Amino acid sequence: MVKPGIFDLYPVNESIYRQMRDTHQLFSRCYWDPSLKSFKAFERLEEKKIENILKGKPRYSLKDYALERAAKHVDLTLRMHVHGKVREPNLPEGVRKLNVSPEEASWIVKRAAVAYGADLVGVCRLDRKWVYDPRYPAFAGQWDDRYQRNIPENLKYVIVMVFAMDQRMLKFSPSVLDASTSLTYTLSSAVAANVADFITRLGYSAMSAVNEAALSIPLAIEAGLGELGRNGLLITREFGPAVRISKVFTDLPLEIDGPVTFGVKNFCLKCKKCARHCPSQAISQGKPSWNGPVPGSNNPGVLKWYINPDKCLNFWSKNGGSCSICIRVCPWTKGKGVIHDVVKFLVKKSPFLNSFWIFIDDLIGYGKQEVDPKKFWRQP
Ligand code: SF4
Ligand code: SF4
Repeated sequence: MVKPGIFDLYPVNESIYRQMRDTHQLFSRCYWDPSLKSFKAFERLEEKKIENILKGKPRYSLKDYALERAAKHVDLTLRMHVHGKVREPNLPEGVRKLNVSPEEASWIVKRAAVAYGADLVGVCRLDRKWVYDPRYPAFAGQWDDRYQRNIPENLKYVIVMVFAMDQRMLKFSPSVLDASTSLTYTLSSAVAANVADFITRLGYSAMSAVNEAALSIPLAIEAGLGELGRNGLLITREFGPAVRISKVFTDLPLEIDGPVTFGVKNFCLKCKKCARHCPSQAISQGKPSWNGPVPGSNNPGVLKWYINPDKCLNFWSKNGGSCSICIRVCPWTKGKGVIHDVVKFLVKKSPFLNSFWIFIDDLIGYGKQEVDPKKFWRQP
């Protein structure tokens, strides 16, 4: 079997592609660019959350709000104080660093990452294409001094980790009762910090990161953890797009995993369910293209489905809560199960059946929103 390369799954036109600027990713740009619909979206989002509490809107109550805000508490602390900084080797005095084959080192690091809480782990070489352009500050100058602007040349390997979101919480999206995104960020953030620390205690350098420092999705594709979907997210075989990603850069020589394909592109060409359900029409119903609708924030030069992040974030601010509808409705977002495994196998082997599976997915009612908060608060 011929294994796919990253450029089969994520084709890049090198004459167009430039490193992404952290200042231009929407979560950063919405703070400084008044031409955006989503300008000051996070201020408006917070105001709307309070308005929703005061109005007594179901799924936006004070306890729902507190659940979501507190779920990201640890992640925010780690991002400010731990991630984005190189940590040096930290061996006990007189002890030599770990000296094993790259294959053995990969096994050890993956085992530790899973023990700390990662659901999937892969390794790739660090392609500098995916690193944020170090000439521009991170987070529009808000957090820039807390982050190292470049990843040192000796950190050549990336351990990419995937964390499954709580699909029962996800059903409440879009509302603040869906704390799954924040909660999974906290887990992914804590595990990345632990894995980086683990590596320093083996005698090597490491830098942990969640979304910062480099683009997580192409790294995850390179590390064999999934493919890119129409919704602009990593689709894993195991959990679909219901995941968060974190990573650790290191100089510990590791065995590399290769990209894998299990039929996502063909499936997305037919499906379009995320695009149909997106409340802001931020997801394309067309074919993949080399550029997106928001220059700068859609970095051109990759053949993929670009979403409109400006419309997306603007919806969040109007809604008074972040949105994961495009994750909730995706047919790949499923729990474990033999039947799901059989369907996934057939999606890969017999793509001509894809329309049938999409029809069945809708017929069974997968991905529907849960609207009764008691279903969350009264469940053990
Ligand atoms: S998060 Fe919501 S608004 Fe944004 S692209 Fe997904 S479905 Fe659309
Ligand atoms: S909802 Fe359908 S089109 Fe959208 S990412 Fe999932 S499989 Fe692809």
